Amino acid sequence: MPDNRILYIRPEAKEKMFKYKQVRWTDKEAGGILIGRILSEDENFIIDDVSEPMPTDKRRRTRFSRKVEGHQEYMNDAFEREEGSCFYLGEWHTHPQRIPIPSSVDRNDWNRLLKIGFESSCLFFVIVGLEDLKVWYGYGEEPIIVELKRRGI
Ligand SMILES: [Zn+2]
Repeated sequence: MPDNRILYIRPEAKEKMFKYKQVRWTDKEAGGILIGRILSEDENFIIDDVSEPMPTDKRRRTRFSRKVEGHQEYMNDAFEREEGSCFYLGEWHTHPQRIPIPSSVDRNDWNRLLKIGFESSCLFFVIVGLEDLKVWYGYGEEPIIVELKRRGI
């Protein structure tokens, strides 16, 4: 991250997202929310879990529009289970691209979310491509969005 903090993604969360890689022609975009914590030792972030597509989400080949239904409950359940120690950290969705690139629609969505403002004062946006995922990090009231560099594992 720009301030040298690190974002970790738990392997289980990664696997959950990778199940939806759009490897076949007919696969539609998928997505959900990122749930995680700030680690108290070093203030690094960790994504512990993600929600998966819900029946009311609009899924097309090149568009994913997440609805509140299901994802909100998933978040609430996680919040109760973890006794309030986890929170909403952002959004993920898939792209049928080898190297995922955010569309103008994605950037508009991200800006809109950042302007709403959440507990963490910043958000992460994951796009899962055909080979791997990429992460963008957004912060500020006039949102700045940067792509995160991979570091080690
Ligand atoms: Zn997109």
